[in-house]
Amino acid sequence: MDRMIYLDHAATTRPFPETVEAMLPFYGKYYGNASSGYELGEDSKEAMEEARQKIADTMGVPKDTIYFTSGGTESNNWVLRQAGEKWRHKGSHIITTRIEHPAVLKTCGDLEKQGMEVTYLDVDRQGMVNLAQLRRSITRKTILVSIMYANNEIGTIQPLREIGRITSRAGVLLHTDAVQAYGHIPVYPGAFHGDFLTASGHKFNGPKGTGFLYIRDKNTLDPWQTGGGQEKGMRSGTENIPGIVGLGTSAEISCRNMQEKITRLCRLRDYMIRRILGEIPGSILNGHPLRRLPGNVNVSFPGVDGAAVAAMLDLEGICVSSASACSTGSSRPSHVLKAIGRDDRAAYGAVRMTLGEENTKEEIDITVEKLKKAVSYL
Ligand SMILES: *Cc1c(COP(=O)(O)O)cnc(C)c1O
Repeated sequence: MDRMIYLDHAATTRPFPETVEAMLPFYGKYYGNASSGYELGEDSKEAMEEARQKIADTMGVPKDTIYFTSGGTESNNWVLRQAGEKWRHKGSHIITTRIEHPAVLKTCGDLEKQGMEVTYLDVDRQGMVNLAQLRRSITRKTILVSIMYANNEIGTIQPLREIGRITSRAGVLLHTDAVQAYGHIPVYPGAFHGDFLTASGHKFNGPKGTGFLYIRDKNTLDPWQTGGGQEKGMRSGTENIPGIVGLGTSAEISCRNMQEKITRLCRLRDYMIRRILGEIPGSILNGHPLRRLPGNVNVSFPGVDGAAVAAMLDLEGICVSSASACSTGSSRPSHVLKAIGRDDRAAYGAVRMTLGEENTKEEIDITVEKLKKAVSYL
């Protein structure tokens, strides 16, 4: 495609050139095993610990709270399954929300089959979690609350400070799936009493198949994989050194000058939203008008097939998503749009466009024009 417009940054992002550059030597010259004591191994270990430090610095947390994983899905599975296992003697109740990513929802479904009790909190029409319901739902048997930082479909940002105040007062562990937030908006686990935090490299211009889990206190969680004892015995297996180096590089770059990037992206986002709502009759915004991710635009054209709109834009070289990329292929309406009260007509008519740093106003103008044509044609 000679002139592609990429507006699907919530699905994945392009690695920074600096990231690829930093990774390459670790696929060649520096191939040592980080557990080996000789110099070649030490080089790998040093690079890995440098990446760990960079990530820790972006969140103001100690370096030894960062554990490398293969991504968001693994980090979420680790927390939900192993906290459930570790604290079973205390209770068997987990609280989450109805709008989580499948990596949390399907895992909770599994846990229910294994005898755990799971409460799924409601959200309001803008996608904000019901805090009164959270307070009411915590019982003596509750061991973990897992609430996503920001939603991958509609971009709504949850009130983590208030949530953390509730869970810490109740003495319940708090996990947040921050895959869509980390590297895009400021994320500080210390500010909201977070015990666990999930992030994924490929969502912040890092390599695919990389990620990390922040674990405030390793005594609150059982190990994930057993074996050679890597990652302080918490996640055995020879480390993905090139991936980890890339992850650290992307974390550092993403969190640099963040406020300026947020300001610019929010302006572009709001310009796009304003144009669509103003120029396409019947269109409605999904998600919160203000508390939303800087790059997220999610609009419904009720009665129009969102997948058909996405396909027409694809023919023009514009990449957008008609549902969460993870649920594409399924013909059921999005569980997130249902949770915010959208009817089937609006849910099937949703199109998600997620902007990134490299997008320009010109690209947005082109997209809005093509969108107008597609919607009126359909
Ligand atoms: C993409 C995503 C995940 C999954 O992360 P992977 O690294 O692709 O496994 C989990 N949660 C959210 C909110 C996501 O957007």
